[in-house]
Amino acid sequence: MKKTTLAAFLFLVLVLSCQYPPFLKYYLTSNKTHIPRFTKWDKVIGSNSNPLRAYDVKSYDWTIHVDPEQEQIHAVMKIQFQMESTQDSIFLDFERHLKLDAIQSSVPLKRTKRKKDAVFVVFKQAVPKGTTVLLEITYHGTPTKILSYTAINWGRDKNNVPWISTATEGIGPHHMMPCKNLLADEPDSCFIRVGVPYGLVGVANGKLDSITKTPTEKIYHWAVRNPINIYNLSFNVGDYVKLEKNYADINQVNQKIEIYALTYNKILADTFYKQAPIIMQKLENLYGPYPWWKDGCKIIETNLPHGVCMEHQSAIAMTNAYQTRYKNINFTLVHELAHEWWGNSVTAYDYADLWLHEGFAEYTEALFAERHLGKEDYTLFIGHFSKSIANQRPLVKPYGVRYNNLVHDDDQDIYNKGVMFLHTLRMQLNDDTLFFKTLKNVQHHFSKRSMTTEQFMVFFNAETKRDFTPFFDVYLKQPKPPLLEFRIDRSRNDSIVLEYRWAENLPTNFNMRVTVTNGETTQTILPSMKMQYLTLPKNQSFSFDITKFGYVLFRKRDD
Ligand SMILES: [Zn+2]
Repeated sequence: MKKTTLAAFLFLVLVLSCQYPPFLKYYLTSNKTHIPRFTKWDKVIGSNSNPLRAYDVKSYDWTIHVDPEQEQIHAVMKIQFQMESTQDSIFLDFERHLKLDAIQSSVPLKRTKRKKDAVFVVFKQAVPKGTTVLLEITYHGTPTKILSYTAINWGRDKNNVPWISTATEGIGPHHMMPCKNLLADEPDSCFIRVGVPYGLVGVANGKLDSITKTPTEKIYHWAVRNPINIYNLSFNVGDYVKLEKNYADINQVNQKIEIYALTYNKILADTFYKQAPIIMQKLENLYGPYPWWKDGCKIIETNLPHGVCMEHQSAIAMTNAYQTRYKNINFTLVHELAHEWWGNSVTAYDYADLWLHEGFAEYTEALFAERHLGKEDYTLFIGHFSKSIANQRPLVKPYGVRYNNLVHDDDQDIYNKGVMFLHTLRMQLNDDTLFFKTLKNVQHHFSKRSMTTEQFMVFFNAETKRDFTPFFDVYLKQPKPPLLEFRIDRSRNDSIVLEYRWAENLPTNFNMRVTVTNGETTQTILPSMKMQYLTLPKNQSFSFDITKFGYVLFRKRDD
C-alpha cells in the first residue's frame, strides 16, 4: 500500500470508527505487539468471570415482527436463565441504538439501567443461587450500521421483493437482540418466531414447528432443540421456495437436506445443490455424524454484503453461491458445513480461540478436496492457503475482551495460518490414521460444548502420545512461524552442501522434521539453532516443499 493511500485509508478508518469507537483499536496498535489495547470497559463487558454474568442461559424465545417497508423490527426476547450465585443484579448485552420498550421479570425488579451496549438488571432482593428467572424484553428499531456491516441486511431480490438476511459474527448478536454475548454460555434450546407480511417466508435455525396467522402477518415458529452458540441465531425473509435433497447419513438413516432458494432460482438451486449430499457424506466420514439431525439441515439463499456466507447452525447462509465453483463444488459451502462440527458443535470457549472455528473450517476445504478430488488438489489447496498470511498477530488472542477477529486484515490469519498449523500438525505427526482418529475423538469428546485452545492441545497430545506443545506455542502464540535460514555451497567439484539452521529463537524442545526434496528422493533434516550441513549430489536441484512437512518461512543467504 502506498503512503498516500495509507493516509487516506487511515483517515477513513478514523472517521468511520468515531461512529463506533470499538473498531478503532484494531487499527491503532503499537508496532511491537500489534495487539489492540482494550479499555477497562471492554474487560468488564467481555469477561467470562464477571460476577454479573454469573447466570446460565437455559433458553432464548425470540419473536421478531419484521417490517420490510420501514426496515425495522418489533421484537420480544424471553430469556430464561438460572442464577449461578446469590446476587441482586446481572447484565445483558443490548446495542445502544435499539429502543427498549419494556422489561418484565419473573422475579420482582427494582430497576434497569442501560449503559453503552449493556442493560443492567437490578432485582428487588438478592436472588438465590439456582433460581430460574425469566426476563421478557420488548424492543424495536433498526440495527445500526458500522462501516458496511449491520446485523440485519435489508435488501430486495431482482423482482423487487424484500429479501432480508442476518449475520452477527464479529459485530455481535446484541446488535439485533438482547442476549448474553459470550461464546461459552449456550442455551439448551431456542425458539425463533419470524413474523412477516403475507407473500414472504421467514426461515430461521432449527425445525419449523408451525405457522400461525394474524390479520397482517404470517408467523413462522422455528425451534432449535440443541445448544447453539449465540452468533448463530439468525433469521431470513424472502420469496423462498423449499427444495429437498435425499441423503442416507453415516448410519444409513434417510435424511433430507433442505434448500431454501428464491422462487425464481428454484431450478438453478435444484441442480446446484446436488453437491450437498456429496459434501455431507465426506464430512460425516471425516468427523462423525452430523450433530444436528434433530434440528434438520438447511441451506438458505441469502444476500449478505461482500458475498458473506455464514455457518448459522442448521441454517447455513449462502450468498452468491451459484457463481462460485471449482470442479463442480462450491468450497465455501464445504467451509460453512464444516462449521457445523467446528464452531457450532465444538465451540471456542472465548472469541480469543476463534481460530479453532475458522482454521478447521478452512482446512476442511483442503481435506474435502483431498478425499473428493485427490492428493494433487490437497497440495494445490495447501499451496494456496500458505499465501496471504500476515504473520503480524498471534492466532490466539487476548481472552475476556470479546476480541473481534473479523475487523483487521492481520487477524485474518485465523483462516489461512490456521490451516497451515493444522497441516503442520498432520505432517509432523506423520500418521494419518491417528491424525483423523484424533480429530473424530475431539469431535466426540467436546461435542456440543466449548473448547479452549489449551484443551485442544492437551487432548491432541494425549491422543497422539506426543508432545506438540512447542508447535502450539510457536504457531499460535507467536506472530511469526519458524524461519529457516539456508545457504548452498557449490564450491566443491563433486557435491553441493546445504547449510541450514533456524534463524530465530524457538523453544529448545521444538523438533521439526523438514524434508528436502532432491530429484526423486527426499531426505529428512532436523534443523536447530546451530548451523548444520547436508551433502547432496552435484548438479541436482533440490527444494523445500511445505506441503510435505509444514509451514515455515525461508531466508536464503547468498554470501
Ligand atoms: Zn468460517
